[in-house]
Amino acid sequence: MNTSFLYHAFGVCEQECSRVRYEDKSIIFEVQTRSEKLRCPCCKSRHFIRSGSTIRRFRGVPIGHKPVFLEMKVQRLECKDCHCIRQENIHFITGKRSYTNRLARLVVELSRLGTIKDVAHFLHLSWDTVKDIQKRYLQRHYGCPDLSELEYIGIDEFAVAKGHVYKTIVVNLLTGQVVYIGDGKGADSLDVFWKKLKKSDAVIKAVATDLSPAFVSAVMTNIPEATLVFDHFHVVKLMNDALDEIRRSVYREEKDLNKRKVFKGTRWLLLCNGKDIFDNQFKSRLDNALKLNEPLMKAYYLKESLKEIWTQVNKEQAIKELDAWIEQAYQAKIPKLTTFANTLKAHKWGVLAWYDYHISTGRLEGINNKIKTMKRQAYGYRDQRFFELKILAMHEKNYAFVG
Ligand SMILES: [Zn+2]
Repeated sequence: MNTSFLYHAFGVCEQECSRVRYEDKSIIFEVQTRSEKLRCPCCKSRHFIRSGSTIRRFRGVPIGHKPVFLEMKVQRLECKDCHCIRQENIHFITGKRSYTNRLARLVVELSRLGTIKDVAHFLHLSWDTVKDIQKRYLQRHYGCPDLSELEYIGIDEFAVAKGHVYKTIVVNLLTGQVVYIGDGKGADSLDVFWKKLKKSDAVIKAVATDLSPAFVSAVMTNIPEATLVFDHFHVVKLMNDALDEIRRSVYREEKDLNKRKVFKGTRWLLLCNGKDIFDNQFKSRLDNALKLNEPLMKAYYLKESLKEIWTQVNKEQAIKELDAWIEQAYQAKIPKLTTFANTLKAHKWGVLAWYDYHISTGRLEGINNKIKTMKRQAYGYRDQRFFELKILAMHEKNYAFVG
C-alpha cells in the first residue's frame, strides 16, 4: 500500500502496510516498521538484533462509519551498542496508549461540537476513552496557567457539592481566566498559589475579595504591596443580611396579628433595589410595613443610602459619605446595625480602595454560575482533576468543550 496514504490518513510515516482485512465491521490495516527506519529506542543506533515481536492494536481515525484499527507487528530490539533490550518506539502514539495521536486530535475537535457521550457514540469509542483524551488535552494546555502577566486578581470560594466541600478560585480580572483552584476555603487553600506566584515574578497591583479575615490576612502577608479592594456587592450583601435579621425579629416580636400580616412577605421588597419597585401595589405594601416599625424603617433607608458610598465623584467625598453613614447607623441604636457599622468602620480602607482601583469580584459571580451549570451536568466530576481542568479552560469561549 502507498505509504503516503498511511501518512495522510493516519499520521503513520515509518511503517508500511502489508495487508488490509475486514473483521466485525471494522477495517484492519496490518502494518510494521520499514527496516531502514528501525533504531534502538535508547541510543538510536542501527546496530541491533531483532529478538522477537508482538502484535499490538491501535485505534485510528474511522473511514466513513467504519472503525479502523492499525494492527502492528512491534519489534523487540537488542542493541549492540548500548545493550538495552526494548520494544521499538512507535511515533504515532503517545506513551502506552491504544489509540493514535491522529484519533486523539479528532476527538478533541469533535468535543467542541458535542458532549462526551455524543463523541463516544459517533466514533464507536468508550465514554472513558473520550474523557481520557479530553483530560490529557486540557492538562497539556490549561493545567499550569501562566501567572507572569497577572496584575488584578479576584479571590472567592464556591461550594463543590452539597454539604461542606469548598474550593477557592483566583481569577485574572482582566481576562476572566481562572488561574488557580485550591482545596477548601480559608488561608490554607491559597498556599500553593502564593508559591507559584512568587516563582512567576508577577507584580499584583490590586486584589478584590470579600471581607473574609482569612483572605485579608493571606493577601497582606503574601503580597503586601498590592491594594486590597473589598468587593462592594459583598458589602451590600452584609447590609442586606443585617436588614433581613432585623425584619425577622420585628416579625417575631409583633404580637398584633394584623400588623404581622403587613410584615409577612416583605422580605424581597426590603432587599431589592428601592428604585426598581415600579408597581404601586408593592410600593404601598413596603411603605405600610415601614410605617409600622421605626427600626425597620431606619435600617431600610440606611440600606438604600449605603450604595451612595460608591457613587461619589472622588475618594475624599466618599470618605465623608462613609463616615456620615456610619454615624447614622450608630445613632439608630439597633444592635444588628451597630455590628455592621463596626465591621464597615474596621474595613473602611479596603472599601474606599475601590476609588483607587475600580475592581470587584462581579466576574467571579458569573464564573460561579457557570460552575453550577457544569455541576448539574454531573457526569465525571467524581474525577476532581477533570472538573478543575474544565474550570481552568472555561474562559476559552470559542474553543470550550461541550458538556
Ligand atoms: Zn542502543
